[in-house]
Amino acid sequence: MTAQLIDGKEIAKRVRAEVSLRTQAFVKAHGRPPGLEVVLVGDDPASQVYVRNKERASIEVGMRGAVHRLPGDSSQANVVQLVRRLNDDDNVDGILVQLPLPLQIDAAAIIDCIDSSKDVDGLTTESAGLLALGQSGLRPCTPVGCMRLLAEVGCNLEGKRAVVIGRSNLVGKPIAQLLLAKNATVTMAHSRTTDLAAVVADSDIVVAAVGRRALVKGAWIKPGAVVLDVGTNRDDAGKLCGDVEFAAACERASFITPVPGGVGPMTIAMLLSNTLDAAIARMQLR
Ligand code: NAP
Repeated sequence: MTAQLIDGKEIAKRVRAEVSLRTQAFVKAHGRPPGLEVVLVGDDPASQVYVRNKERASIEVGMRGAVHRLPGDSSQANVVQLVRRLNDDDNVDGILVQLPLPLQIDAAAIIDCIDSSKDVDGLTTESAGLLALGQSGLRPCTPVGCMRLLAEVGCNLEGKRAVVIGRSNLVGKPIAQLLLAKNATVTMAHSRTTDLAAVVADSDIVVAAVGRRALVKGAWIKPGAVVLDVGTNRDDAGKLCGDVEFAAACERASFITPVPGGVGPMTIAMLLSNTLDAAIARMQLR
């Protein structure tokens, strides 16, 4: 079998076009664009690029995007004060604090200052709790992007065995919960899992979210399985690659995401979608 590639770039483009159309309707109805505000503390070069991309993407779909840049030696109180100000601003629908934060800042406490109705990254304790309880709320962007990719290729999850490799709060845990909500039978694997090969070989859906290149061997993949590779790593030539042995996995999977061009492009697209959903939900509460 040669796997079909899941073209995350193309699907993300479609999601952005949908968001753009819905944003126009929102502006017509409410006389203002949805607002996404990103908080960046310090001058980490990678974070600066991510933040610029988020700002640009939000403006491209017709939203009001803004970045608040605080110096790297900011205190906890300074960051809290900014987040609270954004919570209180009625024109702000989505707040995202770019991670990682400098060491002197307690990131979990900052995230929990975000009003959960504006938590477009889906990372507050309240958002995580709503997801765990199966109640509606904003979901983390990369996991919700993975679910959209599965839906786009018509993957029926009911009764399927899925393994999520990696159990971070940002990626692994929420993906597992979203799969469970779709009635998959979910195994969560992590660094202490024994015989990962056997777990993967028994799975119809494989989501790799670790950050170790070629961790998942192509020969482990069950014939016909759907493989989502969230990992972002560099190979010896410095090229971007995922956690899965791509060429070998293509020989066995039915569908697979490439890295780059698979899960990655979905993250910002789903951030835009979450921001619009947050804006609509907030207006409905009025
Ligand atoms: P993380 O917080 O470092 O978590 C990594 C997870 O992998 C941990 O749960 C860890 O297990 C597990 N792990 C480590 N070694 C393992 C092994 N040998 N076998 C099985 N599991 C193992 O990372 P993250 O934030 O979830 O990100 C994971 C990857 O996704 C990274 O490459 C990151 O760059 C990428 N990512 C991509 C996107 C995107 O948009 N494409 C977005 C977010 C993240 P323990 O819990 O036992 O330590």
